[in-house]
Amino acid sequence: MSGIDGKVIIITGASSGIGEAAALLLARRGARVVLGARRLDRLEALAGRISQAGGDCAFAVTDVTRRADVAALVNLARERHGRLDVLINNAGLGLISGFDERRVEDWEAMIDVNLKGVLYGIAEALPLFRAQGFGHFINTLSTAGLRIVPRQGVYAATKNAVRTLTEALRQEAGDKLRVTNISPGFVRTEFADAMTDPTQKAAVLEKMERIAISPEAIARAMAFAIEQPPEVDVGDIVVRPTAQD
Ligand code: NDP
Repeated sequence: MSGIDGKVIIITGASSGIGEAAALLLARRGARVVLGARRLDRLEALAGRISQAGGDCAFAVTDVTRRADVAALVNLARERHGRLDVLINNAGLGLISGFDERRVEDWEAMIDVNLKGVLYGIAEALPLFRAQGFGHFINTLSTAGLRIVPRQGVYAATKNAVRTLTEALRQEAGDKLRVTNISPGFVRTEFADAMTDPTQKAAVLEKMERIAISPEAIARAMAFAIEQPPEVDVGDIVVRPTAQD
């Protein structure tokens, strides 16, 4: 199956930002989307918008740090549609700060969501992909992992851990599965809201206001990877503002 129409696509972190934009765009293009995030009210509102526009949408409250939640999300797709074409591991946290701040709980949260959350997604979807004989992992990484800068070390490390493990996954996957990493630069989302270091939060908000691009730009990159013929595996896509240094 190529294209987007009819594909069953799970998106984690779908309640805002890039995940929300991807849900809207992919549903508009005929995908049957299955959405996960922690905020039920946001998922309900988004599902309502998609359904009103004639799209097919299911959702489940999902905390990707809980393996059982991720398993339930994959099961929801399987039970509702009998298949899963794409898992978009998009949920993520960027709690940036310098090492001297010793915000160890933030480091742990980023490891839990950005790394372990993706691993749970792989663990739960891979057996289904193998049984079907097709499947596509898409991971939202970051340009933070490509140009390493101060105060983004732990965040970049979690994203680059996924970059590393997915190269092995790609090689193990054989000729039936696809693995795509998308690295956004500055994107206008709610990304800064969770930050605990007020100085870094203010700096990110200021820069976001100045140079960030729309989350639809990342959604379009996801759509590009998904719509390729089954034998075409788009490996890495970097999408950043022209104004980003
Ligand atoms: P948002 O904060 O708008 O979206 C983050 C999403 O992740 C939300 O839907 C949030 O939903 C979800 N999320 C957070 N923690 C969990 C969790 N434990 N379980 C399930 N879902 C969770 O930011 P973005 O859209 O920008 O972020 C999306 C991805 O893009 C992230 O992986 C981020 O690292 C990456 N990225 C963003 C960039 C940017 O400039 N905005 C740049 C580079 C990469 P909820 O709170 O409802 O659970």
